[in-house]
Amino acid sequence: MYRDDSEYRGTPFIGGYEHNTERCPYCGEVCEADWVDVGVGLVQCGPYHCEKCGAIEIGAFDNYTKHTEAEKKTGWYAPEKPYTGVGNMVGGKLVSHQKALRVYKENYPFSATEEGKRYIREIGEPT
Ligand SMILES: [Zn+2]
Repeated sequence: MYRDDSEYRGTPFIGGYEHNTERCPYCGEVCEADWVDVGVGLVQCGPYHCEKCGAIEIGAFDNYTKHTEAEKKTGWYAPEKPYTGVGNMVGGKLVSHQKALRVYKENYPFSATEEGKRYIREIGEPT
């Protein structure tokens, strides 16, 4: 039987490989999050964060148990709050996975070489 989908027309289509941005609830800046390709689309794998003021979206697996009223209302940590969540950190600051990988390769250049990758594969084998 043919299904009349006219009620769905006009709904903005967001494909599996597109993602939304969020507005920082503290300063209004457009914020990004990290996403990972799971084969059928993208899945958010890091919190939205504000490059301008430092606010970070509260994650489901974060350790904080006491939130301020502003944090409860917005769902984001205040800009000055130290972050102890599970996102990519460099120098105590939440960063994108691209920056985290770049810093890792700069600090551990051997792991990025073919020799390093071979070595890691060898020591990673179960004994
Ligand atoms: Zn902000």
